[in-house]
Amino acid sequence: MTQTDAPTRLAAINTRIAHAEAIAGRDAGATTLIAISKTHDAAAIQPLIDAGHRVFGENRVQETQAKWPALQAGTPGIALHLVGQLQSNKAEDAVRLFDAIHSVDRPSLVTALARAIDRVGRAPACFVQVDIGDEPQKGGCAIGDLPGLLAQAKDGGLPVAGLMCVPPAGVDAAPYFALTAKLARDHGLDGLSMGMSDDFETAVTLGATHVRVGSALFGARG
Ligand SMILES: *Cc1c(COP(=O)(O)O)cnc(C)c1O
Repeated sequence: MTQTDAPTRLAAINTRIAHAEAIAGRDAGATTLIAISKTHDAAAIQPLIDAGHRVFGENRVQETQAKWPALQAGTPGIALHLVGQLQSNKAEDAVRLFDAIHSVDRPSLVTALARAIDRVGRAPACFVQVDIGDEPQKGGCAIGDLPGLLAQAKDGGLPVAGLMCVPPAGVDAAPYFALTAKLARDHGLDGLSMGMSDDFETAVTLGATHVRVGSALFGARG
């Protein structure tokens, strides 16, 4: 895939999201498309900004610091979402850089983020990542630990927007999306960050408010 047709792919993905919203009886525009631009350089990202897209996702603090200030200087109103695992010692940098953090998954990180939000004076929307397929290597809190972690996050003043999941690879994601949606409902949370390049339409039909799409927009990562 070439960089020049990223805007065409963006339009096609937006159409597919709109169609999935319609068949699920959801409001048009109920889903936010996060363009996951990790590993892609400014030259690859700029055409999507020029096409009007404003919501992007990265998985590393350092890469974001290196890449995004220049892009943001050129275009106001860009929102950055962190979708990768976050070390507690990078919490303050993350709070400065990102408008949303999708990988809140353990008590030590909740503590670090609460302190960072206090110190920096800005509060990104926080999604608690759930280890929905019981795959500890992927990050995310165990389903059984979710109530305690959510309570701690609320006590600490974190603005919890919802839940995030990455289902196991190679199997039907739908049951995992449905379970994540049920957990969010049980806890009175509206936000659902789920669905990637291969399964975002399924996620939209099951209630995703945020889909995280990388390779279907930018092409394969090197
Ligand atoms: C890389 C990444 C994505 C995007 O994956 P694609 O399959 O390229 O769409 C989504 N979510 C997370 C957490 C990621 O790390």
